Amino acid sequence: MHELSIATAIVDRAAELARADGTDAVAAVTVRVGELSGVVPKALDFAFEVARDGTALAEARLVVEAVPARAWCEPCAAEFPVGMPPFFWCPGCDRPSTALRSGRELEISRIEPRA
Ligand SMILES: [Zn+2]
Repeated sequence: MHELSIATAIVDRAAELARADGTDAVAAVTVRVGELSGVVPKALDFAFEVARDGTALAEARLVVEAVPARAWCEPCAAEFPVGMPPFFWCPGCDRPSTALRSGRELEISRIEPRA
């Protein structure tokens, strides 16, 4: 399962960052997940519960921050949502866009230490 290896990587990295911060127990970890990252938040949630076992994140909560996919249109100088499945066509000027501004994120944005 794809999400399990991602969840394991998140747990490992978050534990490492927490340790570097002088914390050995994490209360919550926030992950930004782009609409086009290929990660299913529900599956990641489940995988996280498996991956966190026996680590500094054993009692941590996973907070998934969904990032919508948005593209940039040069002529309009504006962003527009590409939706899912993605459609890179500007609704303003009816022209295609090739510049994706957001939606591929898969990153830890916040680690909350346990008090
Ligand atoms: Zn446009």
